[in-house]
Amino acid sequence: MSKEIPYKIYLEENEMPKSWYNLRADMKKKPAPLLNPGTHQPMTAEELSVVFCDELVKQELDNDTRFYEIPEEIRNFYKMYRPAPLVRAYCLEKKLGTPAHIYYKFEGNNTSGSHKLNSAIAQAYYAKKQGLKGVTTETGAGQWGTALSMACSYFDLDCKVFMVKVSYEQKPFRREVMRTYGASVTPSPSETTEVGKKILAEHPGTTGSLGCAISEAVEVAVGTPGYRYVLGSVLNQVLLHQSVIGLETKAALDKYGIKADVVIGCAGGGSNLGGLIAPFMGEKLRGEADYRIIAVEPASCPSLTRGVYAYDFCDTGMVCPLAKMYTLGSDFIPAPNHAGGLRYHGMSSILSELYDQGLMEARSVKQTDVFEAAEMFARVEGILPAPESSHAIRAAIDEALKCKETGEEKNIVFGLTGTGYFDMVAYEKFHDGKMDDYIPTDEELAKFRARLPKVD
Ligand SMILES: *Cc1c(COP(=O)(O)O)cnc(C)c1O
Repeated sequence: MSKEIPYKIYLEENEMPKSWYNLRADMKKKPAPLLNPGTHQPMTAEELSVVFCDELVKQELDNDTRFYEIPEEIRNFYKMYRPAPLVRAYCLEKKLGTPAHIYYKFEGNNTSGSHKLNSAIAQAYYAKKQGLKGVTTETGAGQWGTALSMACSYFDLDCKVFMVKVSYEQKPFRREVMRTYGASVTPSPSETTEVGKKILAEHPGTTGSLGCAISEAVEVAVGTPGYRYVLGSVLNQVLLHQSVIGLETKAALDKYGIKADVVIGCAGGGSNLGGLIAPFMGEKLRGEADYRIIAVEPASCPSLTRGVYAYDFCDTGMVCPLAKMYTLGSDFIPAPNHAGGLRYHGMSSILSELYDQGLMEARSVKQTDVFEAAEMFARVEGILPAPESSHAIRAAIDEALKCKETGEEKNIVFGLTGTGYFDMVAYEKFHDGKMDDYIPTDEELAKFRARLPKVD
């Protein structure tokens, strides 16, 4: 080690990635295609373009093009909050007394407070370029809705957000941030859509789920001329845009000759993890280097660790295409865990396929253990982390503690996806000892699994 490693490794503006990296191009076995829910045939571009913008459809279906140039307008927007720093967690290492070196890529340095802006701005750009009037979407914890509101206001597009009811009620300030950027926000399930009314009739008093909100947003997009639907995670196109996280991380590490041993990210729909690991997994797939890659999910919504790899609906209302993924079942509604962004029943098809091939690991963690890690991190590193991100912190700490036992000087890299200022109700519950650790039973999971669609 020649150069001393600073607390923050910054890239210069001109070192920012000029292209997104499409991991699928290096996968020998490609992720399974989206299927038409009626015919069970692969979705065509024509079918998808009813729901999504044309350019995004192209990106969604493209398993072969390795690099997509980032349009200049998007790169200029990125420059307002990127490159994001890669931070050496010296203080956390000291606190843990570990010989491991811990690094985190901080994506919370923008008003939306998360990595979601990286894809929101891309999706808004393509919608604008197509001459659309607006877009609809769902939001769980509110980060995606906020990011999309910001992106839409930048390109002067209308933005209709369906917000999972539990978050709408727990996070009124999030809602107001979205309205500040001009979005309209409706709690989901709502009475404004057919699918919302149906879900409310079947589950009165439900606190909602991402799956419900997606169904409502898609219904409105398809039924309103000049509108398309956009999604903040899960889809291949979103992972493509989020590759900017991993490309910057890799460039920063390379600058100091650091080779990551373990790469860790939290996994909701898989977008930040897919983006962070992309260049590392690419090297692994091409046989150039090896990395341990760990997905971390909540024990209350354990799609990778306890789900099944099967075709399932992406939404509760069953209006969306079928995706092959690790899933708990599209009508699984998790206990009201405070990491709203990790409550999705499924997982990106790309990550599901990589996991199925044994190319990455997954683990689930209990909510109170996550907040214990979050608080320790906040106290020593200064940043108040989002509950979602804190799943990755938990796993990074656990890995660093293992190194303490073995004396190994591993390089641990994790994604710090965002800040938790809007999650203080959750922190309050934790401090008051009122946070519960609900873990679904095998019987419960089997019940939802039995309702998976039959494909083949
Ligand atoms: C949405 C969100 C996540 C989880 O979503 P992925 O698509 O799995 O990345 C994680 N962290 C934060 C801060 C989020 O807002």
